[in-house]
Amino acid sequence: MQTHITDSFRNTPEGEVAERILRNCVHCGFCLATCPTYQILGNELDSPRGRIYLIKQVLEGATPTAKTQLHLDRCLTCRNCETTCPSGVEYGKLLDIGRHIVEEKVGRSASETATRTALKTGLGTPLLFNSALKLGQGVRGLMPRFLKSRIPAAEAAGDWPQPRHARRMLVLQGCVQPGLKPNINTATARVLDRIGISLLAAAAAGCCGALAHHLNDTDDGLAAARRNIDAWIPHLDAGVEAIVMTASGCGVMVKDYGWLLRDDPAYADKAARISAATRDISEVLIVERAALSALNLPPSAKKIAYHPPCTLQHGQKLSGGVEVLLTDAGFELTPVAEKHLCCGSAGTYSILQPDIANQLKARKLGHLQAGAPELIVTANIGCLTHLQSGSAVPVRHWVELLDEVLAGH
Ligand code: SF4
Ligand code: SF4
Repeated sequence: MQTHITDSFRNTPEGEVAERILRNCVHCGFCLATCPTYQILGNELDSPRGRIYLIKQVLEGATPTAKTQLHLDRCLTCRNCETTCPSGVEYGKLLDIGRHIVEEKVGRSASETATRTALKTGLGTPLLFNSALKLGQGVRGLMPRFLKSRIPAAEAAGDWPQPRHARRMLVLQGCVQPGLKPNINTATARVLDRIGISLLAAAAAGCCGALAHHLNDTDDGLAAARRNIDAWIPHLDAGVEAIVMTASGCGVMVKDYGWLLRDDPAYADKAARISAATRDISEVLIVERAALSALNLPPSAKKIAYHPPCTLQHGQKLSGGVEVLLTDAGFELTPVAEKHLCCGSAGTYSILQPDIANQLKARKLGHLQAGAPELIVTANIGCLTHLQSGSAVPVRHWVELLDEVLAGH
């Protein structure tokens, strides 16, 4: 695609990246077929190609409007279009740049700003989130059904094994996950402990920064990244092998720290090192598959449906690993149609764009439940809670099932 980017953008690092990405797009439109918002809304401006065109216009000098912002806001950042695109267009990076510029030029109403700030602070601060969650869980029994479905009942965490192995890995605890589903990280620690790896958490690490980043608050997102890098580098220096992610939404963000901080002389190298050491738990266990099979897993008769999060299959380009591990563990995976499509969770999207998010949730649950599974499993806390709010079938993280098989449940 030919571009005529204005001088004010062309000579900036963002403008150079945007121009390179735009030139790769040949306008073929293949990406429209797999874009969830285009599937639902049928409007070119709610497709990848339409959004690319909107961003191009802004970079070429057009004045963005609230309508431009709405079409960019409606994008789930699922990056399904990147998987489909035959020309390798890095749509996610272009969208980040476009959203940032449009946000600066169009701004937000006072109520939108308040909602976005409340989401960023409330969800990204574990102390605040956990206190509010405990309050909600305390009165959950008195709530109407639609509210009750949004607040999961309190769950036990299970034991975290004492560190006893020479091999060690770190885990990102996450901001909302330990409150909502505390068993996910302890289950991960137990599975790794059985194959000779101790899992540690760095107390000074916190939210990965994805919440702020996707709400266009670049400064807060990068501040979270720098805090985590400072917390993790000493552990890497001390011999920790990897930084394990149990939520794929966090994993895709941490794997991007190197890119996001590439122009920061104090952090660029450290950020690249952290990103290179980051692994989704499925990546770790696929490498350790022989050690897992040596444990002689007892067969499980459970029939389950797996939902691969977009942040795993499109963001991190990791497909098939979870299915292999669950099949090794004896589970029967039911066939699920439209595996590539987003469930509508997408971080804070389900709160900010509830109509589209709920349509996608209903569509996804229809496919997941078609094979009458006993359980639905996924790999990201956002997808898990979003799907559970509309499903009578329990939705869990797949690593919890593996932990239970290993424990002989
Ligand atoms: S992003 Fe890729 S698939 Fe979509 S129109 Fe451009 S080149 Fe074609
Ligand atoms: S990221 Fe997802 S929702 Fe956004 S344009 Fe690409 S396919 Fe569509």
